[in-house]
Amino acid sequence: MTSPVRRPLIAGNWKMHLTLAQSVELAKAVRESTKDSPAEVAVCVPFTALTVVAEVLKGSHVRLGGQDLYWEPQGAFTGEVSAAQLADAGATHVIIGHSERRRLFGDTDEWVNKKLKAALAAKLVPIVCVGETLDERQSNKTFRVLETQLAGGLKGFAPADVSAVVVAYEPVWAIGTGVTATPAQAQEAHSFLRQQAGKLYGEGFAAGLRILYGGSVTPETVDNLMAQPDLDGALVGGASLKAAAFMRIARFQVAAKA
Ligand code: PEP
Repeated sequence: MTSPVRRPLIAGNWKMHLTLAQSVELAKAVRESTKDSPAEVAVCVPFTALTVVAEVLKGSHVRLGGQDLYWEPQGAFTGEVSAAQLADAGATHVIIGHSERRRLFGDTDEWVNKKLKAALAAKLVPIVCVGETLDERQSNKTFRVLETQLAGGLKGFAPADVSAVVVAYEPVWAIGTGVTATPAQAQEAHSFLRQQAGKLYGEGFAAGLRILYGGSVTPETVDNLMAQPDLDGALVGGASLKAAAFMRIARFQVAAKA
């Protein structure tokens, strides 16, 4: 049984994959195959695919997300896309601060904070990613990194403004590597993040905060991960590109939360 106050969210991150035709095909498959998922289901697609996928998902239960945004509302920012433009293209969700953005494109906690502010102003559901590298884990810095990224990303809001926020714990060493965090490792990090969220915005916020796990989630690993009490869903990269695998993940089976 899942928490009564936290509906699970299973979100696919298609990253920089698929042609428009392939995107339409996969979106149709997700729409049809996840109809009976108890979780909220979303796909976060490349900017160029937003409008065509929005058309496929129109009126369905599947939500559409962008993978990033820029915080300014408009202007001379070549290559960037605003929160309002995402919403206009049909997006309801957006990933912010993915480790690939942090590592390859220089996103900082300050940028994550600005992007979060823009997403919330546009009424998008933000999925804010945090997570430690292997080096950081091995040198016992995991909690410090999570605390810093969460506090930096979420700072400066009124508690009422952050109620839509979703956090994704994505250990960098597990993303795209095939090495999934163990359920115990994930639970430890999620529980810590929930505690920190409580310090930032109070117990009510922490209790309602959905914290997703991301990092090589597969049909084989999802059930044990989702059985953990503080895991409220998954952000899925590689496996979200295969309709059958994503369907099984969205229909995860948990007898009872630990
Ligand atoms: C991700 O990109 O957010 C992710 C978790 O990727 P993967 O599932 O491929 O590890």
